[in-house]
Amino acid sequence: MSDLPQLSGEQVHELDRAHVFHSWSAQDLIDPLPIESAKGVRFTDYAGTEYLDFSSQLVNVNIGYQHPRLVAAIQEQAGRMATLAPGFANDMRSEAARMIAEKAPGDLEHVFFTNGGAEANENALRMARIHTGRHKILSAYRSYHGATAGSIALTGDPRRWASEPGMPGVVRYWGPYLYRSAFYATSEEEERDRALQHLRDTIAVEGPQTIAAIILETVVGTNGILVPPDGYLAGVREICDEHGIVMIADEVMAGFARCGEWFAIDHWGVTPDIITFAKGVNSGYVPIGGTIVSGAIRETFGPKPYPGGLTYQGHPLACASAVASMRIFEDEGVVEHSRRMGEEVIGPRLAEIEAKHPSVGEVRGLGTFWALELVKDPQTREPLVPYNASGEAAAPMGAFAAACKERGLWPFVHFNRTHVVPPCVIEEDDLRAGLDILDEALEVADGYV
Ligand code: PLP
Repeated sequence: MSDLPQLSGEQVHELDRAHVFHSWSAQDLIDPLPIESAKGVRFTDYAGTEYLDFSSQLVNVNIGYQHPRLVAAIQEQAGRMATLAPGFANDMRSEAARMIAEKAPGDLEHVFFTNGGAEANENALRMARIHTGRHKILSAYRSYHGATAGSIALTGDPRRWASEPGMPGVVRYWGPYLYRSAFYATSEEEERDRALQHLRDTIAVEGPQTIAAIILETVVGTNGILVPPDGYLAGVREICDEHGIVMIADEVMAGFARCGEWFAIDHWGVTPDIITFAKGVNSGYVPIGGTIVSGAIRETFGPKPYPGGLTYQGHPLACASAVASMRIFEDEGVVEHSRRMGEEVIGPRLAEIEAKHPSVGEVRGLGTFWALELVKDPQTREPLVPYNASGEAAAPMGAFAAACKERGLWPFVHFNRTHVVPPCVIEEDDLRAGLDILDEALEVADGYV
């Protein structure tokens, strides 16, 4: 006998509208699609419509849906031990930490587990503040770091506005983004050099002795898949070393095969002091995240207690799923596959799409982490207006998204961009089919140029 009721699609929708308080959107405006099942790179609604997922949900289902080995591992762990407080040692917690430490660069060998990405950033900033005895945190304008009190204050994009004034001590800076350069740069090298100079100037006027950390998304995610120019992250590392500032790389979205490496920062061979992770580590099958810290930061909390913890951190089900997921990544070569799909399929096909459609201003990305930036005017680079007065995705971006969905593709649409972020395991045929749909749907966007 099962304790889980079988609801119809109508019941799911009705109960959702009556009782579920959703995130971000205005409650009365949203109309969430009830999803009945999912498998591989597709999910299906109660009407039986199947969608090829080009969004990986919130860019976290790196391994695809219902991976049989991952589901089996969670079931097995639930049968063995379904819960255990963080103060005890646990086999899966130890093994997950060992595997993550093994994959992380340099001496990042100590894992503080959390239940997701925002909590990972919250703890990173507290650790950096206590470690340095300083209070300011530098964070980029084009960034998202989560929706808890501290992490929304670290966030640079407009999602923070409604939560301001927020946490004191956050200072913002511009990161590199050549297409819309804050520095009037005309080449990647110029953008890199000017962005680093701007960071040095910001530190100088803020007072280096007051700055605990610089937090950045190694490859910026929801703000547009901004791949840093070569040498930028090494430059930030150098600046941090010069001033005793902790370098925090937020890899919540960019890590675990998304960029074709275990950690995105491996592309540039830089070791930060802290990496935060979540999402791709187990594709969200059970909530998990964490803060991986260097030996020096770990040592601060040898004699000194770390004043923070979470009832469910290092949860056995979550850790077991992370262990199984990392083993599947290894056995199935998911990291290499993601990199290859980016280099051989997504990159070249998007270059064709960019050349064909006047609404595509720029394409950029790596691995299975790409963005198309849509513009009203390719000359002025004016973005396609994405939202109507009530905050819904309206034409043209809403119309573009609808055109994708009508053709069975679930797109990731944010502001004036669509991101190509399918599960990292997607096979070439599915990827090409999805890119063909995107190509067709862009005719809608072209109509607004
Ligand atoms: N950091 C980055 C770069 C993210 O993209 C996100 C979520 O999208 C977060 C942090 C927050 O993670 P979570 O939603 O698991 O709290």
